[in-house]
Amino acid sequence: MASAEDLSGARAPLYAARRGVYPKAVSGPFRRFKWAIMGVTLAIYYGTPWMRWDRGPYAPDQAVLVDLANRRFYMFQIEIWPHEFYYVAGLLIMAGIGLFLVTSAVGRAWCGYACPQTVWTDLFQHVDRLVDGDRNAQVRLANGPWSFEKISKRTIKYLIYLTIAFWTGGAWIMYFADAPTLTHDFWTGQAAPIAYGTVAVLTATTFILGGFLREQVCIYMCPWPRIQTAMMDEKSLLVTYKDWRGEPRGSVKKAMAHPGAFGDCIDCNQCVAVCPTGIDIREGPQIGCITCALCIDACDGVMAQVGRPRGLIDYCTLDDAAAEKAGGQARPALRTLLRPRTLIYLGVWSAIGAAMLFSLGQRTRLDLAVQHERSPLHVQLSDGHVRNNYTLKLRNMETRPRRVAVSVSGLADAVLWTEGGTREGAGRTVSLTLAPDSVTRVRLFIAAPGTGPARQDFTISTRGLDGDPRGDSDIIQFDRPGSGQ
Ligand code: SF4
Ligand code: SF4
Repeated sequence: MASAEDLSGARAPLYAARRGVYPKAVSGPFRRFKWAIMGVTLAIYYGTPWMRWDRGPYAPDQAVLVDLANRRFYMFQIEIWPHEFYYVAGLLIMAGIGLFLVTSAVGRAWCGYACPQTVWTDLFQHVDRLVDGDRNAQVRLANGPWSFEKISKRTIKYLIYLTIAFWTGGAWIMYFADAPTLTHDFWTGQAAPIAYGTVAVLTATTFILGGFLREQVCIYMCPWPRIQTAMMDEKSLLVTYKDWRGEPRGSVKKAMAHPGAFGDCIDCNQCVAVCPTGIDIREGPQIGCITCALCIDACDGVMAQVGRPRGLIDYCTLDDAAAEKAGGQARPALRTLLRPRTLIYLGVWSAIGAAMLFSLGQRTRLDLAVQHERSPLHVQLSDGHVRNNYTLKLRNMETRPRRVAVSVSGLADAVLWTEGGTREGAGRTVSLTLAPDSVTRVRLFIAAPGTGPARQDFTISTRGLDGDPRGDSDIIQFDRPGSGQ
């Protein structure tokens, strides 16, 4: 097995075989906070595809929908077209910077509370407690023979795992199609094979990652514990065992027999027993700690029982740890959170968010692209005028039909008309009706006097005739004989 040499020259294996982790139930403010985050994140994940959002008769009414078939992304009132994908990229960049911000301020809080791996592992660990009992019962069952009790409990537990995993995979595909329709199609065998395949893959991965691999994912598979060190410094909050207060550790009995000889840690191991990754925080900061703070709840409970002050294990920065060791005071939490690094992350995050909001507010929902037909480049008309042909690509990105005016500027005495029309009666503007949420291609003919530059730039513009008047424009050439085709 590969190994790494530490500073003392000792060789430690890069991978340690998994030990069973049977975290004990614990109560306290961090556990309650974790319950709340779990409830909110699971409700968002499972519930979002079922939220409706009225966009009128021409667009889907699912609040959040990745419509791959029609290449649209709907998020409440916002609709993103493929050429606007930079908004999604912006959201991803904001998510990344948000993660940097959270990590630099409160360490691995994302890992401890909101990461899907943590949330689902926590859920599965509650299933363990529900079926097998708390930690001691789980250990007894795991180490015991394959009795009727063990087989039946394992069967029930794995069936619950599979049910959760199946609903997790099932919820995922609902983001990609109308949820009620897809649910009906799925259960009646009419959904696309990719839907069944996706649910099967996600069911299997949720079952394995949440049910069995659990903390192994955090320690060995996830790159984030390695990357996060770049975002943290001596002012980032970490779950810390205050060894200067707790050591030397010893039981209450020993402490009573030898007053002043022992620290506050009574070596009860409750902090280890509740840890979802099975580590001992008293050994110092380590990659397996996801900063869920359940050991703080456990230790605070123990300290309350033995009549000692809370906070033997607590959120603490390296700076504060050094200050406390030297007999000083920890800094106020606000000063820990608000410092140049976190403020810079917050500033960049806010600037990107504000720029995106501004851009969303300013964007026009009428888009124009013009192509000059090359064959023929121009047509000489009998009255001395010259005609050029163009193809307009008009995007109506609103979920309603639009009436728009197309006009030209910068081309003296030009008239225009569309396919099916004639030059007689043509003016400098044509009006068109565009289907909702669609791309319309229109052939446009423009006639202008034959006298003038061989190649002349001019502008074709669109303007909304109902509601938002903002349109788009494109600069294009008008060619006359002698333009060097
Ligand atoms: S829970 Fe607290 S008192 Fe008990 S072993 Fe852990 S640090 Fe020591
Ligand atoms: S050591 Fe404490 S904070 Fe870290 S993972 Fe374990 S219980 Fe959570």
